[in-house]
Amino acid sequence: MPWQPSCVQRNAPLADHTSFRIGGPAEWFAEPSTLEELASVLRDAERLGWPVSILGGGTNTLASDRGVRGLVVHLGRGFRTAEVLDPDVDAPEVRVRCGAGLLTQRLVSLGARHGWGELDTVAGVPGQLGGAIAMNAQDIGRLVEAVTIVSARGDVTELPAPSLRFGYRSTRLPRGIVTGAVLRFPRVSPAEATERIRRVLQYRNSTQEVRLPSAGCAFINPPGGLGAGRLIDLAGLKGARIGDAQVSARHGNFIVNLGQASCDHVLALMEHVQRRVAGQFGIVLQPEVRLLGEAWSAPS
Ligand SMILES: Cc1cc2nc3c(=O)[nH]c(=O)nc-3n(C[C@H](O)[C@H](O)[C@H](O)COP(=O)(O)OP(=O)(O)OC[C@H]3O[C@@H](n4cnc5c(N)ncnc54)[C@H](O)[C@@H]3O)c2cc1C
Repeated sequence: MPWQPSCVQRNAPLADHTSFRIGGPAEWFAEPSTLEELASVLRDAERLGWPVSILGGGTNTLASDRGVRGLVVHLGRGFRTAEVLDPDVDAPEVRVRCGAGLLTQRLVSLGARHGWGELDTVAGVPGQLGGAIAMNAQDIGRLVEAVTIVSARGDVTELPAPSLRFGYRSTRLPRGIVTGAVLRFPRVSPAEATERIRRVLQYRNSTQEVRLPSAGCAFINPPGGLGAGRLIDLAGLKGARIGDAQVSARHGNFIVNLGQASCDHVLALMEHVQRRVAGQFGIVLQPEVRLLGEAWSAPS
């Protein structure tokens, strides 16, 4: 196949791009650095009839052992920007235009340095801003004023936040790739922002599984009542293991990769957890991790 723009790799191992450290090859893996480059690979994929998937930091993603057919897009360096739109430091709020490839933790540290309030809610959440918006991680949607999206045809649209209907771990995004967003923060002192972030990080480090590869919480919390982690704990599943996939002994809702876990191991363990929790409490837990890929064989 002669098609190979400079930002595109063939058969890129997704295990290198996911926090689970799991996943076979992406048939084509593009890391565009500009809007033009992104629009061009999207148009090519459309013309060639390839399916397109978007991978942010890969921290909420379980990628198939058999890999992903078509094109996987991962926003590159040119999308890691943050530009202050309201330089008046006496204004009560500040708006910042960010690229969707910006690491959420980079945004948090900029917030600490410049006194952009309320970023403590996403302190410790790994991944990219685009992924955080797509997942509405820690309700980041309430800080979003508008989102820029590129369609499969390469058309760029700016959408106001209310049209995206941010919900619990969900956003109603139209088909396409988020390339940037305007965020709005209350101004606070850098000392206050830093202290709030420090407290959140301290709490996370003492309660969550942060040492072993995972994708954070495996299941969303069911409405009302007990959280997924507590239900899993009460069902006696902490430490349950299939292959090298294990329910964390520290946090029941984290599934960790002990070293050689495959996607199939994780899925089998998730099904085991779902069955046990449903049998004991009558609640069917729904996955929070997003599956990427399918059963397919890489062409030789
Ligand atoms: C240790 C750990 C702790 C975590 N703690 C939390 C937590 O407290 N709260 C929480 O909510 N989550 C948490 N997570 C989960 C995860 O970090 C968040 O959901 C994060 O915001 C996902 O961002 P990402 O860039 O890694 O997304 P990815 O995993 O790459 O993608 C997630 C979804 O977003 C889509 N997506 C990604 N980028 C774009 C884009 N630019 N345009 C359109 N769609 C896109 C993908 O297609 C996919 O469907 C945790 C994960 C880990 C490993």
